[in-house]
Amino acid sequence: MSEPGLIVVIGGGHAGVQLCAGLVVAGHGARVHLVCEEPELPYQRPPLSKTFLKNPGEGLQLHRAEAWFGEAGITVHRADPAVAIDRAKRTIELKSGARLPYQHLVLATGTRARRLPHLPEGLCNVVVLRSAADAERLRDRLGSVSRLTVVGGGFIGLEVAATARALGKAVEVLEAAPRLLLRSVSPELAEHVLQVHRASGIEVRLGVAVGGFEAEGDRLRALAVDGVRHEIDTLLLGIGAVPEHGLATQAGLDCDNGIVVDAFMRSSDPAILAIGDCCSFPEPTSGRRLRLESVQNANDQAKTAVATLSGQLAAHQALPWFWSEQGSLRLQMAGLMPAKGVRHLRLGASPASFSLLHYVGDRLVSVESVNAPVDHMAARKLLESQRSPAAHLACDPATPLKSWL
Ligand code: FAD
Repeated sequence: MSEPGLIVVIGGGHAGVQLCAGLVVAGHGARVHLVCEEPELPYQRPPLSKTFLKNPGEGLQLHRAEAWFGEAGITVHRADPAVAIDRAKRTIELKSGARLPYQHLVLATGTRARRLPHLPEGLCNVVVLRSAADAERLRDRLGSVSRLTVVGGGFIGLEVAATARALGKAVEVLEAAPRLLLRSVSPELAEHVLQVHRASGIEVRLGVAVGGFEAEGDRLRALAVDGVRHEIDTLLLGIGAVPEHGLATQAGLDCDNGIVVDAFMRSSDPAILAIGDCCSFPEPTSGRRLRLESVQNANDQAKTAVATLSGQLAAHQALPWFWSEQGSLRLQMAGLMPAKGVRHLRLGASPASFSLLHYVGDRLVSVESVNAPVDHMAARKLLESQRSPAAHLACDPATPLKSWL
């Protein structure tokens, strides 16, 4: 009988490392190659917009120590991104020129930060936040500047705004939409978040148009905001992320707002799976396609992929949930919010700690909590217990549930 071939994982983020951990438990560790674009050992991304920015001495929180990969038999290729997939030969090519054969390939390539199309790259006072290198750059700048402008009132923009404010910086948030967190939370929660940030001294401007720019050398001097010249000290672009599916597209895999996979994380080529932020999957309660950007989703899809690679198909059913920390706000969200037909119930008398329960008819479909972890866990358990393929949610399939930038 022939030996089972290699499992090659492209992308050492949350999904890729969780997949490795599951494959080790399933006894496949020695077959695994993990291909990483970044030079660091795989690390946790959530702290990058929170504690990492606050504390100059804080290092990266690694998913696993280097020794763990060695003991598990996993070969890690660092700072050597995959540049091409040859599906006919079942090999991938790395930037270094190395070629790896695979029996199964898993794409866990995540997202990249969206940029303003008219703004040139390489300006020294303009940052995005996706990687450890981005976070170090932003932390260095926060150490020396007094003002931060954030374009985008999504999760990452607001987390960084709150962190910078806690560091004593003057902070402004420019958001094109009429409210914060438009694609991610209910209007009720967004309004609460707005009030808390304004009360902390962050200037939030909604419904503004960010247009032209003025640069001098490699420095951005000003932006046109609603047609008026607006001076910039440091600018964070927090305007969302796009799925990193260049390799998949080149290789001819189906892609549509992410790499298209089935409920078992298989792409249009059954030898290739995709998991995490980079993939678009059939949401089990609605059957519609969804792409999620959250740690929980990356971890749960990795588990589904381990089952698929182990020959024990188990459809992806996990309840989506995520969290965000913004200054004094600890936000937790679970379930999917339908586009319409929702009834809300507020739980908790304190203005600083409450949960919003969202119902369709008498069925709880989603819960959003502010500094209320105990209530949140109870509601989340309820949501998990009633998870079934009964499809009456009307999520917009083109919109990611949440976007972190
Ligand atoms: P990623 O973790 O992004 O990993 C993808 C990896 O693939 C990257 O390391 C990338 O370099 C690599 N890669 C891409 N192309 C190639 C290639 N060709 N070859 C090799 N490697 C490649 N989520 C939450 O739930 N809660 C939070 O509080 C939260 N905070 C966040 C804060 C920040 C600053 C950021 C950036 C994200 C945050 N998120 C949060 C989102 C969460 O981190 C992502 O949803 C999660 O990391 C997705 O995991 P992933 O493995 O799909 O992608």
